[in-house]
Amino acid sequence: MSAVKKVTIRKKLFRTLFVVFFAVLVLTILPLSTILYYSSISNSNEIIKEKNISIKYFIEGYFKKIYSDVEFLSNLREVRNLPSLDKESLSRVLNIYKSIQNADSDINYIYSGYQDGSLVINNYTPPKDFNSTIRPWYEEAIKARPYITRGVPYREIKSKELLISVSKVLFDDKNRISGAISIDTSLQKIANLLEEKNSIYKKSHSFVTTLEGKIIISQDKSFLYKNIFDIVGFRIYFNKDSGEFDCNLDYSKKFIYYNCMDSLKWVVLTVIDKNEVVRPIVLQIATIVLILVIIIALFGWIISASLRKQFIFPLVELKKRVHSIVADNFDDNLPDIYKQDEIGFIAADIEQLARSELYKKNIELRNMNKELKKLSDTDALTGLFNRRKINIEIEKEYQRSLRYASPFALIMFDIDWFKKINDTYGHQVGDIVLQELSKLAKQTVRSTDIVSRWGGEEFLILCTQTDLKTAYNLAQRLREDTQNYKFNGDIKMTISLGAHEFNGKDSIDDLLKKVDDKLYKAKQSGRNKVVMQEV
Ligand code: GH3
Ligand code: MG
Ligand code: MG
Repeated sequence: MSAVKKVTIRKKLFRTLFVVFFAVLVLTILPLSTILYYSSISNSNEIIKEKNISIKYFIEGYFKKIYSDVEFLSNLREVRNLPSLDKESLSRVLNIYKSIQNADSDINYIYSGYQDGSLVINNYTPPKDFNSTIRPWYEEAIKARPYITRGVPYREIKSKELLISVSKVLFDDKNRISGAISIDTSLQKIANLLEEKNSIYKKSHSFVTTLEGKIIISQDKSFLYKNIFDIVGFRIYFNKDSGEFDCNLDYSKKFIYYNCMDSLKWVVLTVIDKNEVVRPIVLQIATIVLILVIIIALFGWIISASLRKQFIFPLVELKKRVHSIVADNFDDNLPDIYKQDEIGFIAADIEQLARSELYKKNIELRNMNKELKKLSDTDALTGLFNRRKINIEIEKEYQRSLRYASPFALIMFDIDWFKKINDTYGHQVGDIVLQELSKLAKQTVRSTDIVSRWGGEEFLILCTQTDLKTAYNLAQRLREDTQNYKFNGDIKMTISLGAHEFNGKDSIDDLLKKVDDKLYKAKQSGRNKVVMQEV
């Protein structure tokens, strides 16, 4: 036989709630995390772009100022024609250089060189063999004429500072190339700005390259003057204003955004570590998931607790109480536990029903028991006590007699020639005769005497607290009454009787045998007689 698994409502409820909440969790978290993920990624991209553009604008603004200074100076007549002018002009020019330099902390040096190789500069004496025309800044200015150079970066030998020379060719009044004016500015400020840590992305950094990929501004010295294409392993064509690409750098995946500066022919690149972008997003999603799980678990717990209280508890209580009603050990003093709601009403009704049904069944059972008892004690035809019951009564009387030494007697009687009655009138009439004789005997004896059907047409009377003489008289009276009675209207018949008193010694069996002997003697000696023991 296979064991039947018991499934409780509570378990079912828990399972259902779990499935529902899990579905809700999946349905809310999946789209939520996707939206969150992509919005955060695009948000971080925006941050990088903004940072990159702000650097671009800063650098452009920075150089615009330098350009306008170079432009201004290159237009000054004295600057353009300096070698052919007097000493006064020279000192005036030097003063102008000095005052512009003092006014702008971004400017390191202002100087001009001329075709004769001379250099005009404050606070510096060039070495004897110095020749301006072969300096890179001068050569670049000639190359770029009539425009301003986009700058020649170099490292100053003494201070090791990274500088850039922005220069422009000079024309004298006769429109011949007379020299070049140059302003040197430190790239440190720009480098510092590039390194300015982003509060969200610590590993994010920026650098500046030429269109050919040469890194010209970077706080990371190991990067400087290297080619970005060699570092990332592929060539990027900076032919658009801005763009983005993915690459592997320092053994991790990076996202790079770039912006070209047309005026300088430079490119600002901002690098961000992809992990750094994804990690906070994943962390954020995980936190939200955790909070959602906690909220849903809490909700689930509250709902299940409430359902338990509302539905399961009254049902379980009802089950217990009905069980105890059925087991008939219900405590009537138990308080009414059901709430005033549908379940409460139904539970109370079921309990009431169980109790009233059981009450009815109990009454039925009691009546049935009574009936059974009666059936087991009495004879169906005559309604007299049967042999089983009279034996019990005799036993009781026997014990009482032994204890109190009170007398008692037995009368046994039998219908004379009863077979003939049956034969003559039929068995049914025989039954009526038996019934009428029983009635007659009951009427004749005293209320304390018990008449019983001993078997067939043989009867036994227990005369309690009765001596032999009284019993004998009773027997005679019954014999006479029977003789005078017309059974079934007109049938005449007689009975023979034996009477015997307990002598205080005999056993019940002896006693019964003795009374039977007397009856036998009555039959033998002619019937319609009472025979009693010899006194
Ligand atoms: P005796 O005077 O010697 O007692 O003669 P008898 O014919 O009465 O005795 P016997 O024992 O030969 O017959 C008894 C008869 O009683 C036989 C049986 O059919 C009949 N009898 C016994 N019980 C019933 C009963 O319940 N109903 C009817 N109608 N007859 C019964
Ligand atoms: Mg008989
Ligand atoms: Mg008989």
